[in-house]
Amino acid sequence: MSIKETTVEIKLKNLKNNLDYLKSQINSQTKFMAVVKAFSYGSDSRVVSKELEQLGVNYLAVAYTQEGVDLRKFGIKIPILVLHPQENDFKEIILNQLEPSIYSFRILSFFIEALKNKNKTSYPYQIKFNTGLNRLGFLKKDIDKLSQLIKPNLPKYIFSHLGASEDLDEKKYTEKQIKEFISIDKALENKLTTPLKKHLLNTSGILNFSEYQFDMVRSGIGLYGFGNDIKYENNLKPVLSLKTIISQIHEIKAGSSVGYNKGFTAKANSVIATLPIGHADGIGRQYGNKKGEVLLGDKMAKIVGNVCMDMLMIDVTEIKCKEGDEVVFFDDNSYSAEEFSKKANTISYELISSISRRIKRVVIK
Ligand SMILES: *Cc1c(COP(=O)(O)O)cnc(C)c1O
Repeated sequence: MSIKETTVEIKLKNLKNNLDYLKSQINSQTKFMAVVKAFSYGSDSRVVSKELEQLGVNYLAVAYTQEGVDLRKFGIKIPILVLHPQENDFKEIILNQLEPSIYSFRILSFFIEALKNKNKTSYPYQIKFNTGLNRLGFLKKDIDKLSQLIKPNLPKYIFSHLGASEDLDEKKYTEKQIKEFISIDKALENKLTTPLKKHLLNTSGILNFSEYQFDMVRSGIGLYGFGNDIKYENNLKPVLSLKTIISQIHEIKAGSSVGYNKGFTAKANSVIATLPIGHADGIGRQYGNKKGEVLLGDKMAKIVGNVCMDMLMIDVTEIKCKEGDEVVFFDDNSYSAEEFSKKANTISYELISSISRRIKRVVIK
């Protein structure tokens, strides 16, 4: 496809490929929760969630309540887990049939209060346990008190989150988390005298520890095409491509500088191309000053000088090109978001989820 402005392409075919691959790694009865937080990792939550609903995923997960409300407004019907609800959210959560993750006694009290106000005695929700990530969740020592409070309205699932499932050098740490989760589950089931459904694995958990899939798995980055390991490159296909065009070309003399604060000074006569994308679009300043590289045809060009808010400049002295030519930041075949992000010491998650919403999205069926 030939583009005329900065464009994010969303390939739904690749999304289906990734879902099929991830499902092939688990049992057919295990439920699948697709994580669509942060605008579906920078793609387009509505388009991607609709497609995932049609492809038959069982659940969606968002980080914040408004993300779930937006999906309900758009007509998404399947259950939606809100991973990180805040104290004022519960009215809207109930109004929109969202499932809150309850991760602390403080948040539990706001949830119970909201149910009382609505005269509800039962409502679906999930309980999050902290097994070592030390981010959100109850601890094993909370179980006595917690079981008293949740007995009248049992959770649909309990879950926890792995902190290093992509890193096989940290296998011991992951195994410790798994053991802790199983022991928490046993203790809580004992207290409540009922079996509980549970889930633990994120994408790398599915790929590396699939025997602990329990009743459901949660995948985000894998659906968008990244497995945190080169060995999955042939199975997972990036859903997003980010492309732009050259706005203008300047021939500059040796000694001239480029960009704010003279971030780059040319040692020899040079050719500089300006691109209509900047740090407000998700290409942060860490990519400036020759860290980041982009693809023109089959040649790589370095980003020179400081990345501006809405533009950045690349050195095309050695590359035959003209204004209007296409430039690739990352795509699904020759240059991945993982490779681009690595050059500035970050990861695909950060790069794709930061692509600003002002950039045009084009959905490719
Ligand atoms: C973001 C998130 C996920 C998705 O993780 P991936 O590595 O993208 O698959 C799963 N669970 C929780 C709790 C998360 O916050």
